[in-house]
Amino acid sequence: MVLASNLGYPRIGEKREWKFTLEKFWRHDIDEAEFAKRTKAIRLEALKKQQAAGIDVIPVADYSNYDHVLDTSVAFNAIPKRFGNFDHQLSLTEYFAIARGTKDHVAAEMTKWFNTNYHYIVPELDDVNFKLLDNPWLTRYLEAKAELGIDGKPVILGPVTFLKLSKLHDAHLTTAELIPLLNQLLPLYQQVVKELAANGVEWIQLDEPSLVTLTDPKQLQLYRQALAAIRAAAPELKVELQTYFERPDYLEDILNFDVDAFGFDFVHDHGTLLPELKALGFPAGKILAAGIIDGRNVWRSDFSQKTELIKDLLTVVDSDHLWLQPSNSLLHVPITTKNETHLDPTIKAGIAFADEKLGELKVLTDFANDKDVAAEIDQQQAALQALNTSEHRNNPEVKRAVDAMLQSKVERHSPYKQRVVAQESLDLPLLPTTTIGSFPQSKEVRAKRLAWRKKQISDGEYKDFIKQETKRWINIQEDLGLDVLVHGEFERTDMVEYFGQKFSGFYATDNGWVQSYGSRCVRPPLIFGDVSWSEPITVDETVYAQSLTKKPVKGMLTSAVTIINWSFVRDDLPKNIVADQIGLALRHEVKALEDAGIRIIQVDEPALREGLPLKAKYRQAYLDNAVEAFKITTTGVKDSTQVHTHMCYSDFEDILPAISALDADVISIETSRSHGESIKAFENVTYDKQIGLGVYDIHSPRVPSVEEIKQNIHRALQVIDVHQFWINPDCGLKTRNEPEAIAALKNMVQATDEVRAEV
Ligand code: GLN
Ligand code: ZN
Repeated sequence: MVLASNLGYPRIGEKREWKFTLEKFWRHDIDEAEFAKRTKAIRLEALKKQQAAGIDVIPVADYSNYDHVLDTSVAFNAIPKRFGNFDHQLSLTEYFAIARGTKDHVAAEMTKWFNTNYHYIVPELDDVNFKLLDNPWLTRYLEAKAELGIDGKPVILGPVTFLKLSKLHDAHLTTAELIPLLNQLLPLYQQVVKELAANGVEWIQLDEPSLVTLTDPKQLQLYRQALAAIRAAAPELKVELQTYFERPDYLEDILNFDVDAFGFDFVHDHGTLLPELKALGFPAGKILAAGIIDGRNVWRSDFSQKTELIKDLLTVVDSDHLWLQPSNSLLHVPITTKNETHLDPTIKAGIAFADEKLGELKVLTDFANDKDVAAEIDQQQAALQALNTSEHRNNPEVKRAVDAMLQSKVERHSPYKQRVVAQESLDLPLLPTTTIGSFPQSKEVRAKRLAWRKKQISDGEYKDFIKQETKRWINIQEDLGLDVLVHGEFERTDMVEYFGQKFSGFYATDNGWVQSYGSRCVRPPLIFGDVSWSEPITVDETVYAQSLTKKPVKGMLTSAVTIINWSFVRDDLPKNIVADQIGLALRHEVKALEDAGIRIIQVDEPALREGLPLKAKYRQAYLDNAVEAFKITTTGVKDSTQVHTHMCYSDFEDILPAISALDADVISIETSRSHGESIKAFENVTYDKQIGLGVYDIHSPRVPSVEEIKQNIHRALQVIDVHQFWINPDCGLKTRNEPEAIAALKNMVQATDEVRAEV
């Protein structure tokens, strides 16, 4: 019989109960016992749902009080020394201290989990002394068994991936550094699986997603060694080796690993996995755990395609050796569409969050087992058909406009060298100073927005308040002596949501929350249909700000690719077409700003890197499309209009050609967190346009001194011509408070004046 298996379920609870429980504990509103009670209820609820959905193989220990990588670190005592020496299972307070920092110690570093928007706590392995402090996998297994009679499948982050995600001396581990650490770690994994097996666990899911990014076949040996150790410690325990987000290369070698099931992602494999499995043959007696439902996106599966895939899979293995699964943990999608009560029924019938995906999985598993699910399949196909043929997805105007755009030459009128001359009319000094866009979103700003949302204050009152803030900050910027001003983005909660609310084809969900890091959840908008522009979005606030000053005010937009990377994008069209549609909608906005007299327009590109495919061979196509969409947005303006862009990461060296190809007149990039490392990128290339390398870190409340900022400027001027250089902070200032922001900018302007005097 074909079984339905799951890889992980969201932790946050249907109404974000988890988030609120964590935050209550942090505020000391509840104690450890109450925390345990509430989080247990959340876990059991999730397990019950999976049980009720008819899932045969239910994951346990996918739950975490913060992050599963951190859980792994604390179980093995891979804890940075500054947090103490431990010989016991950590208390909650000790655990959260690592994730969030304390007043004496900075939090552990956090970074993105593969190509998702989930962030994990990076294990720091400098002088750690591995020992087993806890076996959460066993605890969770026993809980599910005792409370619900579920024979769960503990999800364990595999040792090689764990080490590859870690840092040693502030860098990722070399193979030579990894090997001795693996040797130390494996006995602890052995201890864990021994205890699991002794307590009746049948299956574990060993997650080794780093296999999909592996480029050095010599490292296959590390995984082999780890699996052998686990097998030796618990020969009766069955191991599902799980990968996701892409397919692994070196399939032939991997299929020879000594495990009982191979979990592969058949959704994000570019269609290459099955043909190769057919050619190689799947090892006899092993289970193929096929991820066939998209665990990264929210659209209903096309059952006609999935049923064909299942038939195909059954030519590779027999039905007793096939499990059907989501492509990855459902952690990356919201929990249920049930609470989306405002959504157009046609769209709602076309989306599936975690619970609905489990429903799909059950239907497909029944199909695979020759049960009669024709009615369910027909119903779903009809719903998809209705959405696909709806007006939302068939705006002939949008299609025509995008096609026409792509036929024409998507370039600025003149090359940069000529534009620079036209832009002299902006009359900017040497080393122009500016900021990235947002100013502090103070308590007051947030309170007013909330009151307005709850309809406690009128639209007019809210707008007036925003105007007041804008005016106040235009004055502050004038007083500071900045050269290019911004309106401050007080009207935006979120740089994607703000545009989503105004374009057609977008929907902001009521409850579509997904964990981003710790208790922080985000609600990515749905891009369900064709995207078009109908009226100016940002013109009012920008023109108002410009009316208050003689200095140029930058218009502020979010790029198509960033919008896409932070949304759930329709999957019936290639992503690049959706990007082009949004790019074109933004082109109208750019034009509207220019027509209203705005002379500088910034199109933010903070998430360009985030969408970068995991495998190198797909990166160029992605970057080409990003460049195309950006140019669609920005090339309709006069030579004299200056186009800016901004990116917030310091590792840009590998994508520098694409960054340059955007053909923005000015780009600002974060640099200060890389200790000047990123400036080195310019030693060997000549960048021919203007650039601002952030001269101070906005992530910290610390106010940088004039001297420090001058040093940063000097360092940059060693590799970049003074006529090309701009002075700005690393990123927007919305998370800083007002005194900090002003003090830092004051020093930045003074540092600039002093450097100008030297040249
Ligand atoms: N303009 C935005 C801001 O200043 C850019 C934010 C970002 O780069 N993430 O807030
Ligand atoms: Zn930024």
